[in-house]
Amino acid sequence: MKRKVRNTEIYKHHGTVVTVQEGDKGKHRDHCLCWQCGFFCPWDSKYNCATARILYSLCVIFNIVTPVWECLLYQQATETQQKRIDKFENK
Ligand code: SF4
Repeated sequence: MKRKVRNTEIYKHHGTVVTVQEGDKGKHRDHCLCWQCGFFCPWDSKYNCATARILYSLCVIFNIVTPVWECLLYQQATETQQKRIDKFENK
């Protein structure tokens, strides 16, 4: 099956000019498993699991955005954990 090439958009993200596929800008959290995982601590990345810490470092070094689509270690956040994550997300 042939993959459809999508239009792209160029914009400034965290002070750097980057390219994103049309429609995906700002959608990282909608697709990333981490935002509903009990191992995720967005308020202080040093407490994240090793995978999220390494991924975050790559994003900072290379100015990329990489949602986690699949993860071996994922564990659904408890209600309390999810409230804390959501509170951070809505800041
Ligand atoms: S275990 Fe997986 S889903 Fe959970 S925070 Fe780490 S990388 Fe994200």
